[in-house]
Amino acid sequence: MESLNHAIESARSRYASANPLSQAADTKAQRYLPGGNTRTVLHYDPFPLTMAAGEGAELTDLDGHRYVDFVGEYSAALFGHTNEVIKSAICKALDTGIAMGAPTNYERELAGLLCERFPSLEQVRFCNSGTEANLMALSTARVVTGRDKLLVFKEAYHGGVIKFPGGHCALNVPFEFVLADYNDIEGTAELIDQMGDQLAAVLIEPILGAGGNIRGDRKFLEMLRQKTREFGILLIFDEIKTARLGSAGVQGMQGIAPDLTTLGKFIGGGLPTGAFGGSAELMAQFNPKLPGALAHAGTFNNNVCSMAAGCAALSKVYTPQRAAEFFDWSEAFRLSLNEMFAAKAVPMYANGSGSMIAIHFSTEPTRRPSDISAGCQSLRPLLHLELLLDGVLACKRGDLFLSLPMDGTHLSKARLALERFADRYKPLIEQVLQA
Ligand code: PMP
Repeated sequence: MESLNHAIESARSRYASANPLSQAADTKAQRYLPGGNTRTVLHYDPFPLTMAAGEGAELTDLDGHRYVDFVGEYSAALFGHTNEVIKSAICKALDTGIAMGAPTNYERELAGLLCERFPSLEQVRFCNSGTEANLMALSTARVVTGRDKLLVFKEAYHGGVIKFPGGHCALNVPFEFVLADYNDIEGTAELIDQMGDQLAAVLIEPILGAGGNIRGDRKFLEMLRQKTREFGILLIFDEIKTARLGSAGVQGMQGIAPDLTTLGKFIGGGLPTGAFGGSAELMAQFNPKLPGALAHAGTFNNNVCSMAAGCAALSKVYTPQRAAEFFDWSEAFRLSLNEMFAAKAVPMYANGSGSMIAIHFSTEPTRRPSDISAGCQSLRPLLHLELLLDGVLACKRGDLFLSLPMDGTHLSKARLALERFADRYKPLIEQVLQA
């Protein structure tokens, strides 16, 4: 596709000219970090921007450009970069001692905040990341059921060693994963009917985040709930991203209670953490006061900075009421983008829900990962670079995450950048999608 390649090359060259200091920093970094990188998702060609500072919902790069931050640390930076309430909670925790090697009241308070908020959680345990939360949930399911197989979905991302873009991944943990198609009710039900008595867990993100912010159909999620009950399989909702949606995540919105829920990202107020939990009966497996309990370790499971930041974030900033309002505000923005695309008759669509948006090159909402065309994928680098050049930071795969410090001006900036992109490239987009 000559003209698409040409457009991407042109955007890369404008980008390189505008960012000499980021380019130099990237070149220097290659001495001690492979490709200058320690987190693959943050790499893009020709080189990623190096950020120098953040304030509210904005970031400034080494070359002094200021951006509206719609990467939002892949949803973890819900509070922006300088929330004073969270900052003072962290400073207070730092002043009173870190790495104490003992329980503190912070983790107790945060556990209470999470359990009071998410309907399926009676008890939780903390760990250090979302990946770890999912590993713990899957391992728990294997122990509790005495079975080995784990049903997951193609294109799902559940962590650096539990991811399925294009199928199985070389770095994945060597668990027995069985892959199903997201939102395929009949195919998945058939698979569970066939091997239900060998399955320990079904692990699902109720909105397939990295796979394109595809909403799990209600009927699909209900089928999973019903079938897993029938076969004694644990249903695990990975709400690491989606817990931000509404006052109680997707489980709250859909009224479907999983057996285990995994959390991470924003629940630490922007600092590293993860959690997994479920019914008190199930979590009693980890009760060290009981004989034969499972031992769950982690030096930093209850690190005071993350726990204190999380307490402030959930009790003072992102209260259930604020979360519900934020959902409505974000969803109105998403719908307004789709009205704008439709008015221009450009094949673009803001998929997702509330503050989790992914721009697809399509006129319709995307219901299954297999509906994402090769053309749609090949247009993503162009959209990404043009948005950056227009002062809007988006994820390279087209995700936009809204954050609390954003206001109407930030949203207008993104809408305008998308509008300009649509106006400029509509013929090219149509050509690529028809090829
Ligand atoms: N599950 C989902 C749905 C995620 O989006 C992520 C992170 N992108 C993870 C798990 C892993 O979390 P972490 O990066 O904290 O290990």
